[in-house]
Amino acid sequence: MLDLATAPGVRAHKPDKLRELGIMSLNGMFDEMDGVAVLRQAVEELLVDDLAIVSSFGADSSVLLHMVSEVNKDLPVYFLETGKHFPETLEYVETLKRQLGLTNVIALTPDSKDILRFDPKGDLWETDPDSCCHIRKTEPLDAAVSGYGGWVTGRKRYQTKERGVLPHFELTSDDRIKVNPLAYFSDADITTYKLKYGLPEHPLYNKGYKSIGCAPCTSVVAEGEDPRAGRWRGLNKKECGIHFDFNGAIAKPMAAQELTLFKDGAFVADPFRAWTEGDDPASVRYTHVPLPVFLENREAILSNPHPLGLLVSPGDNVELVQADLGRFASIAINFPAFGDGRGYSSSRLLAERYGYKGELRAVGDVLHDQISHMRRCGMNAFVVKHEPTRKALEAGKLALVDIFYQPVGLTEVPLGTRPFLRRAVENA
Ligand code: SF4
Repeated sequence: MLDLATAPGVRAHKPDKLRELGIMSLNGMFDEMDGVAVLRQAVEELLVDDLAIVSSFGADSSVLLHMVSEVNKDLPVYFLETGKHFPETLEYVETLKRQLGLTNVIALTPDSKDILRFDPKGDLWETDPDSCCHIRKTEPLDAAVSGYGGWVTGRKRYQTKERGVLPHFELTSDDRIKVNPLAYFSDADITTYKLKYGLPEHPLYNKGYKSIGCAPCTSVVAEGEDPRAGRWRGLNKKECGIHFDFNGAIAKPMAAQELTLFKDGAFVADPFRAWTEGDDPASVRYTHVPLPVFLENREAILSNPHPLGLLVSPGDNVELVQADLGRFASIAINFPAFGDGRGYSSSRLLAERYGYKGELRAVGDVLHDQISHMRRCGMNAFVVKHEPTRKALEAGKLALVDIFYQPVGLTEVPLGTRPFLRRAVENA
């Protein structure tokens, strides 16, 4: 038996080197193993009576749950009953329980006080989905699994670019082990496994839902799209937060006055934080990594499975990261002082020349008068700490400037024949 769990009762501390090494060697040993062997190792050797299964009872859940039934039908299986599921998903929970003989499926519901306080109208998913996931998923799951040394997920590498380096075993920052028996399964492996064991499909799967979560945040996926493209479609959100870490590295539900990120016309919870000295490039998550730090740790950061952002400050050469821009869900352009305009050029290069399509946010000294210029240069989110600017944005009173010394893009091509003079451009 592998002796990784040297102190299973100890929580909330940085993983020690030995455990990290243990996890690395486990991944080496189990790289070639099939999913059931990985699960059996976790259940019978690594975390005996100390492991929980978490299942969404979504499109592919039958595969992991079938493996669970093969290993031990009495293992605790937690289902996040957010109150927002499709009725078909609730039916499917019962179908799988019955067919696989699972005896210990436990529905986790959100705290009613949180719902009353943060989502009294039931529309938080629309205005602030990170906080909605936080109160409906992360908080209930954290509470339930806090007594376990590890948990099992059904995540797979092929699902998204962010999951592309998912290992079989992960060590979380609070020293628990996440087990991903299906990490190396392909889409075809899932289909083959379902057919081999005659597993029932989720009732919505054949209607085009390839990844199924809560009803308001799930849509049909077109042929050739990323299977998770139908989740939070149109939002810069790929995960619900439960997979970042046990202690939840995503935004906590916040009072309106604490929200500083202005995006899509509203102040919303910000899942990102700033890079701090001592952060580990290989495991940090939801952090804007300064561009020089990225260049120094490029391999580690590209192998880091978590969502990340990039921080571009004056003097940074964005051309050096041109090939890696797709790695970042968000790029923060730093404006350390009102009079420093270098961030405008960086933003234009990223958006116009290099075609970056993700979130481009302005951070630092972001003031009311600058925002329309920032938008012209491609920025689509703004971290606002200046109270008058916040009030103006909340009131929808954004200063518009229609005289441009330096036109940008196609719509601002200077009128007339003397482009070196200031021009007024209508309807800019
Ligand atoms: S998936 Fe949507 S409805 Fe479900 S908890 Fe997250 S934001 Fe809320």
